[in-house]
Amino acid sequence: LVSRKKKAEDTVVDLKGEKVGDGQQRLIMGPCSVESYEQVYEVAKAMKEQGLTLLRGGAFKPRSSPYDFQGLGKEGLEILKQVADELDMTVISEVMNPQDVEMATKYVDVIQIGARNMQNFDLLKEVGSHNTPVLLKRGLSATIDEFIKAAEYIIANGNENIMLCERGIRTYEKATRNTLDISAVPILKQETHLPVLVDVTHSTGRRDLLEPTAKAALAIGADGVMAEVHPDPAVALSDSAQQMDIPQFQAFLESLRETGLYK
Ligand code: PEP
Ligand code: MN
Repeated sequence: LVSRKKKAEDTVVDLKGEKVGDGQQRLIMGPCSVESYEQVYEVAKAMKEQGLTLLRGGAFKPRSSPYDFQGLGKEGLEILKQVADELDMTVISEVMNPQDVEMATKYVDVIQIGARNMQNFDLLKEVGSHNTPVLLKRGLSATIDEFIKAAEYIIANGNENIMLCERGIRTYEKATRNTLDISAVPILKQETHLPVLVDVTHSTGRRDLLEPTAKAALAIGADGVMAEVHPDPAVALSDSAQQMDIPQFQAFLESLRETGLYK
């Protein structure tokens, strides 16, 4: 059902009026983890001033170590919703447990399925049974074919509002945290009718590579880019090496606009 052969036209996912996949490129930004109301508000306000409304933030965090910050859980979703209501923004946040999906739909506009859960089939079926749009990230070691089949699980259960997100794959290369598979973008656009996004933060793991990889993503035809922004990355509770601070975020946007890659 996600195949171009089944449907030739592009799927456009409507996020409270802001459309993803309609030909205009979108930016999804916000902190890695929700840490406090003040932290989310500061980033969201800077985004809103630049005309961005798609706010991401993690409340349920899939951390490699059980001793690392695990996220604020439901309280994090409450903070995101409060900020989004105040600033008229759209919330994207990850859910890891199928049992949390129903609850999360009351707080978020888009449910993110993280890389580590791309093949959590019960979770895919559960988000498939709701109408809430889904941002599905590519698994750390998933082939493009496995990625497409994961999206198929969601659509097969009734939810067509799916955005695919390339976020880097695991290779032997250690210069970056993962290897951004940029050619996945045109392949996914050819093979499926779904919008395709690129997460430059988790694919590179390097702040200095966010801008060039975002340009590459937009130039190659991605429908949007995801990147993380934190008021003070040095003290961030997760992903401190790759989040932009607010002046860096503003410079990032300006640079994308100057090249004409982002309007
Ligand atoms: C995230 O976007 O917050 C995240 C954890 O990314 P990924 O699942 O791609 O590692
Ligand atoms: Mn992160």
